Order: sequence, then C-alpha cells, then structure tokens
Amino acid sequence: MTDEKVAAYIKKCLDAGRMEEAIDTSRVTGTPLSKEELDGYIRKYLENGWVQKAIDGAKAAGIELSKDVLSGYVDKYLEKEKIYSAVDASRIIGIPLPKEKIAVIAKECLRKGKIASALEAYKIIKEKPPEEELIICGNICFKDGLLADGLEAYKLANKTPPEDELVICGNVCFNIGQVTSGLDAYKLANKTPTKEILRICGEACLLEQRNDDARKAFVAAQKVEEMIYSRTIDVREISLEELKKLKIDISKKDLTCPDCENRTNIKERYFEVSRCPENKEDEEELHKIMKLQYGVENFYIELDVLGNGRGLISSSICGNCGSNNIVLSSDDEIGYTEIKARKKE
Ligand SMILES: [Zn+2]
Repeated sequence: MTDEKVAAYIKKCLDAGRMEEAIDTSRVTGTPLSKEELDGYIRKYLENGWVQKAIDGAKAAGIELSKDVLSGYVDKYLEKEKIYSAVDASRIIGIPLPKEKIAVIAKECLRKGKIASALEAYKIIKEKPPEEELIICGNICFKDGLLADGLEAYKLANKTPPEDELVICGNVCFNIGQVTSGLDAYKLANKTPTKEILRICGEACLLEQRNDDARKAFVAAQKVEEMIYSRTIDVREISLEELKKLKIDISKKDLTCPDCENRTNIKERYFEVSRCPENKEDEEELHKIMKLQYGVENFYIELDVLGNGRGLISSSICGNCGSNNIVLSSDDEIGYTEIKARKKE
C-alpha cells in the first residue's frame, strides 16, 4: 500500500469508529497518528452518541475518559432527545437515568412526531404513551409525510387514522417524491390521487434521478386518467349542506331570475356528476340521466369543480315565471356548460 492509501484507510477506520484498528494500522505501517487527532475523534464519537466506540477507542489510544465526562454526555443526549444513546451510555457507565426527565422527554418526542424515541423513552419509565398524545403524534407524522410512523402511532392508540389525515400524508409524500408511501396513504384512505399530483411526484423523482419511482408515479397518473374517462356517468343529487362541506358555498350568491327579477322564490337543485361530458355523446347521455332520474331538463354543469374530474350540476326554476335561466355558478370565474333540452323539430 502507498502512504496515501494507508492514510486514507486509517481515516476510514477512524470515521467508522474503529479506533483500535486505526491505531494498529498506524503502528504497523509507521504512519503517524497524533493523540490530539485521536482525542478529537473520541469527542466526535461521543457527539454522535457512539458511547461504546468512544470507550473502546479511548482505551486503545490510552486516553482517559472519566465517568464525569460520560455522564455529562448522558445529559446532553437526553437534551437532544437521543434516547437510544442515553440508554446506551447510562448502561455502559452504570448510571441510572432520571425518570422525571425521561417522562418529559417522552411526551416532547410525541409532540414532535418522533415516535421511535418516544416509545423508547416510555419503555424506560415503564409507562404507556397516552392515547390522545399518540394521535397528536400520528397526525404530526402524517403532516411530515412519515406514513409508517403515523400508522404506528395510530395503531398503538388503537384507532383508525382518519381519511383526511391520510390524504394529507399522501399529498406530502407525493410532493417530496415518495411515490410508494403516497400511493399507500391514498389506498388506506380509499381515495384516488389526482393525476396532477402524481405527475408532480414523478417530476420530483426525476429530479433525484430515481427513475423507477418516477415511472411508477407517471404510470399511476396515467391509470387515474384512464379511470376517469372510462367511467360511466353517475349523477347524484346533493344538498346545500353537502356542497358546503365540499367547500362550495352557493348560499351567499344573490340569485335573481333574469326573466322576471324575482329573488325569493327560486328552487335550486344540485347534483354531483362522476365525470364531466367530453363530447356530444356524453352530453346526450347526461341529459338523458338528468331527465329520467331527476326530471330535470335544463341545467348547467361546472367542470371539474369537485375534484377527480367530478363536475357540479345545478338546476333552478323560478317560482314566479317558471324560467330556468338562472345560473347557479359557484364562482363567476369558472366556465360552465349549459345543457338544455333540445327541442324536437
Ligand atoms: Zn322568473
């Protein structure tokens, strides 16, 4: 081995915490290795939480590592919520961990979504994490896109994660290019992600050159698109309350009949349509459904406003003059298609 290679090998050993091997190598090859350098590495091991490696290294290097120094690090680990290191260190040097302090840390970890550290801390103090804290923790994990951690927290709380939280998690996952977790989250929520967010996910994967993940996301986007356009058209009447839940508030609209200017006696009906008409045939089918199922001949449809390709149909009749020319659009900016009964000639 050349000197350069030996030096590189020694550094590799030191970086990995194998101090004894590094010292042996330096001795055999006559490569200098100063005490200051070794001391620096021991500090680094301790900072990393590698207590056993620090102790072994110090022994090999003939550097004294006092119990005071080590117990000082136990406190440091606890402050930084490095529970595993604190447990390790306290076990190695034979100092019990302060129970009250750990109880506080356990709860703090849950509040930060650090489920693994929290569970370790609760295990040490032989207590069970409270249900409500677990749910808070689970929701934080979901917001950070940590699906597995969030699910674990909910499982320990004996609760099923709510759809909304799962969708939040799925969206975060997609935005950071975690396609598998994103798809899993949506599957658990029984929801279908939009093709747009799947494509965003695909792009994020491409940026990191994870081509397999990118392909997975783009294929999923394609499937969603095909699913939307191969579905038959379903129409379901929905109440104003339900519309509000879907974040569409029509109640504030000032409805006026354009034909008689009546404002008070307008009968409104709303429907959710599973997919928006793409062509004349679709329009005719939709018209038929509306007429046969709901007795509605004239209506307006707002495209895609309900997500996943779903549209909103509105229909109204003026109680005064019988006009059905009142537009119930949820937003003046949104384009709508007017579908009227085609008069037979
Ligand atoms: Zn009228």
